[in-house]
Amino acid sequence: MFMEFFNSLLEGKLLGMKCKDCGSYTCPPKHTCNSCSSRNLEKTILSGKGTVKTYTITYVAPMGYEKEVPYVVALVELDEGPWIIGRLDVDPKIAEENDLTDKRVSIFAKEMPSEMFYPMKEKRIVPYFRIEG
Ligand SMILES: [Zn+2]
Repeated sequence: MFMEFFNSLLEGKLLGMKCKDCGSYTCPPKHTCNSCSSRNLEKTILSGKGTVKTYTITYVAPMGYEKEVPYVVALVELDEGPWIIGRLDVDPKIAEENDLTDKRVSIFAKEMPSEMFYPMKEKRIVPYFRIEG
């Protein structure tokens, strides 16, 4: 499911799970519903749109990611409900000088060189959010 999620994201599709018991969405996809723990889920494609709830600018990278700092990491509430983490596709200076909370965003993915600690060796796909309008 991990590979499928990221490969779909590269094609512009955000995969999630819809719970057949309580109707809520879980994203990234898992085998159990985030709301009620049901396993009665079906795969679905989400809108990929949401709202920035909070974000931080990363200046000190985790090991292996030193070349990529600084970058902006955001927590986004998707229109379907789940909260997911990705990078904000903005200049860290802009993120520092402006309040981007509550900005509308849409998700996409960037392919980056794989790193030592990343589970996929051939490529690394990083979720990004683009600010709308
Ligand atoms: Zn549920």
